[in-house]
Amino acid sequence: MSADCLFCKIITGDIPADVVHRDAHVLAFRDIDPKAPTHILVIPLEHTPNAASLAAADPAAVGELVQAAGRIAADEGIVEPGYRMVFNTGDDAGQTVHHTHLHLLGGRPFDWPPG
Ligand code: AMP
Ligand code: ZN
Repeated sequence: MSADCLFCKIITGDIPADVVHRDAHVLAFRDIDPKAPTHILVIPLEHTPNAASLAAADPAAVGELVQAAGRIAADEGIVEPGYRMVFNTGDDAGQTVHHTHLHLLGGRPFDWPPG
């Protein structure tokens, strides 16, 4: 828990979100500014600034994030067309919220390499 963190405030319920899944390890909610028909953020309940720090602090928590994202992808019906999981890290990657979050994106084709 970090006092100034937007996503910690979503976890505590101080800031509302369109929650699609919650369990003992993760919270998942729809991105407020979706970049695809399905755009869901899957976050650990513990505050760490990025995926690599989470992996260093609690490797199993990264597995929980990916596993939850896979289940949500199935719920959203995007497994067969395909989907993308993204961890933006740092300024060059466009990270704006410094609480680890997995972007689950689907429902349209994506370019590769990314822009
Ligand atoms: P990133 O740029 O990788 O740090 O991703 C942060 C994401 O959080 C962006 O896609 C934002 O649209 C999203 N976001 C910011 N504020 C909120 C909010 N209050 N509820 C849901 N998503 C949000
Ligand atoms: Zn946080």
